[in-house]
Formats: sequence, C-alpha cells, structure tokens
Amino acid sequence: MRHLSACEQVTAWLSDYLDEDLDTGTAAEVEKHLRVCVRCLALADSLRRTIEVCHAYEPSVKPQPLHPSARAELERAWQKTLAARPIGPNRGT
Ligand SMILES: [Zn+2]
Repeated sequence: MRHLSACEQVTAWLSDYLDEDLDTGTAAEVEKHLRVCVRCLALADSLRRTIEVCHAYEPSVKPQPLHPSARAELERAWQKTLAARPIGPNRGT
C-alpha cells in the first residue's frame, strides 16, 4: 500500500469524521490536521455544508416511477441536447 500524505488520509477520513463515525484517536488526528491545514479545513467545511443540505432535504412528495411515455420523451430531449452540443466527447476536433 502506498504511503498516503496527511492530506489524503484526512480527506479519506472526513466524511466519517463529520458523521462522527471515527474513534476518538482518529477524530483527534483529523482535528489536529484541520487546525494546521487550510485546504483540508475548507474541504471539511464544504463537505459539512453538503451533508447538512442532504440531511435537511426531505421531499414532501415521493417521486413516482416515470411513465414509459414520459421516459421516452425525456430520452428524446436528452438525445436532442446531445446532438445540439457543438463539441461532444465523440465529436471533438
Ligand atoms: Zn491537509
């Protein structure tokens, strides 16, 4: 296994850290790193906000499965969007 830099290790731990799923020792290591690393702190902040938004989001109406005709229409619209793009992954110059 290749050596992870402190930043990579902390990044790997971040979501567990924010979910409070880490053991105390590991969480302390993350906190220690966040005090000295602006980059990881910014990442932690944005991840925390993302998690908060996800947790706050409660759809009031459960989405229904798409009707086949609606699905076909979406598919056509999507194909049209793809075709209209000036540069696509397979159409680049
Ligand atoms: Zn870092």
